[in-house]
Amino acid sequence: MKIHNFSAGPSILPKEVIHQAAEAVKELDNSGLSLIEISHRSSAFISIMDEACALALKLTGLENKGYKSIFVQGGASLQFLMTAYNFLNRKAGYINTGTWSEKAIKEAKLFGEVQELASSKEANYNFIPKGYKIPNDLDYLHLTSNNTIFGTQIKKIPETKVPLVADMSSDIFSRKFDYSKFDCFYAGAQKNMGPAGTTLVIIKEEILNKISNTVPSMLSYKIQAEKDSMFNTPPVFAVYTSMLNMRWVESKGGIEKLGEHNMHKAKLLYGEIDRNSKFVGFAAKEDRSDMNATFNLVNQSDTEAFDGLCNAAGISGLKGHRSVGGYRASMYNALPIESVDVLVECMKSLEKNK
Ligand SMILES: *Cc1c(COP(=O)(O)O)cnc(C)c1O
Repeated sequence: MKIHNFSAGPSILPKEVIHQAAEAVKELDNSGLSLIEISHRSSAFISIMDEACALALKLTGLENKGYKSIFVQGGASLQFLMTAYNFLNRKAGYINTGTWSEKAIKEAKLFGEVQELASSKEANYNFIPKGYKIPNDLDYLHLTSNNTIFGTQIKKIPETKVPLVADMSSDIFSRKFDYSKFDCFYAGAQKNMGPAGTTLVIIKEEILNKISNTVPSMLSYKIQAEKDSMFNTPPVFAVYTSMLNMRWVESKGGIEKLGEHNMHKAKLLYGEIDRNSKFVGFAAKEDRSDMNATFNLVNQSDTEAFDGLCNAAGISGLKGHRSVGGYRASMYNALPIESVDVLVECMKSLEKNK
């Protein structure tokens, strides 16, 4: 049976990417060696890393714009502390839009003063705060561009005079954006870029060169950048597969084209959530994420019937996060619109059968 993978992460990747990655594990480009047994210092792997770094800048429109891309380990969670360790001297501002923001705030507090400039915690993070004041004396402002758990997404990036840092783990490469508004952004690979095990960090060279904090080597953006992501052994499989996926994104017309496709998928699903009397959306309409749609049943007594319909249709990974309950449909780049059609059909069937 065909499986429709709505998992929030690790999550769906294009079939051809998985196939190519599997081939490379068997043998990398007729080298007689597997991807996972060659030296990371071999010319073959160095060119893979170079291509991955170059593609990340190309896809975000930051090629030759004074940015550096690096791949590090430790997941997006390590970035919560690396951003603060490297950039926080005195005071940073954070917008609290969910569990991941909260975790970022917790780590940053180890390194300096943290001002929570706005929060939607009281509403269980079902909206994105707007119109808050951003002091001009912050070392940086930190945002979470897409809230994977709650299904909200920042649509308009606030104007700031201070450096802007963003966790883009669950919407990197998913929509057209002016990425040059950001001074540093990062994304754990396993949502919309590749397999778990690596994290992409893109930093403006201007701010990279200004880092004055003394930071241990592994956690230092300067050292990771100077060593071209090869300070120590990089996670070769995760970087290679992410590179394959970035090639795929480019072959599909880049993030502009995929962004249109993603918007289309999201419209289809939200349209049904709003139309169908059996369902109710979780997030405020204007802040709804194109990547993760959160919704609940109006009557919990329909749970068994709806889950049965979904299982029979091959839908996988639809269970909502425990802090929201209900359902979450993650519609990352690789999810075809046919999968959304199948989910919408299940929702319609539930309404019809009762
Ligand atoms: C999943 C996720 C994280 C955590 O990523 P790890 O790689 O597991 O550390 C952080 N931020 C956001 C927005 C996420 O979706």
